[in-house]
Amino acid sequence: MIMIFSGAGLSAESGISTFRDHDGLWENYDVMQVCSTQGWKADRTLVTQFYNARRADLQDKKPNAAHLALASLEKKYPGKLYNLTQNVDNLLEKAGCKEVIHLHGTLTDVRCETCEHVWDVGYSVQDVHTSCPRCKSTCVRHNVVMFGEAAPAYEKIYEAIQECEIFIAIGTSGQVIDIVPIVSEFSDSILINPNKEKHVSAFGLQDRYIDEHFKYFLQMGAVEAVPEMMNIIEEFMDV
Ligand SMILES: [Zn+2]
Repeated sequence: MIMIFSGAGLSAESGISTFRDHDGLWENYDVMQVCSTQGWKADRTLVTQFYNARRADLQDKKPNAAHLALASLEKKYPGKLYNLTQNVDNLLEKAGCKEVIHLHGTLTDVRCETCEHVWDVGYSVQDVHTSCPRCKSTCVRHNVVMFGEAAPAYEKIYEAIQECEIFIAIGTSGQVIDIVPIVSEFSDSILINPNKEKHVSAFGLQDRYIDEHFKYFLQMGAVEAVPEMMNIIEEFMDV
């Protein structure tokens, strides 16, 4: 099976930006105020407005050739893909992917803090009076993992490592989730990233660059990498 692990670089060419592009300030919002548990506790209205804007921004965004390539892999190798993404957008779904694991949650869903029910709100604007359709609680929040809280979907990473023989990292610099310990479990692997980046592990700066741990390094954007990525995957799968 194939483990796909994508990050912001997959969606960058569709015009989706992330807090890392904004140097601490995102359209006049302080990132730590709107992306952390402290910020959420301090001002739910402000954080809700921020996620309303992010959600509305998704509506006209289109999947790019890399999203479409992953959807075509899902069709070509049914049941053989673990499609994990750190992205909270819905561009993989828009491209036709059916089985996406969102490690950091989803913008188009909200979640009840009382009963944990998660539901799709599309691109609609939420306010602090929104109530849960299941338990009627008004403790409703965005469904994106914040700094300062656990990401339960991370257990899927370990599951995927057990199940898969091929690891493909796309558009991720390994700053949030260190991908070197993951790739060290695989003999067949591809890294797609326009930048050659130093490996910073939990123990600090390491001697080897991230790409040096991979079998193939395609130093380019996700869209440009599609033809070569597909060729290499076919070679892996035909063996
Ligand atoms: Zn509820």
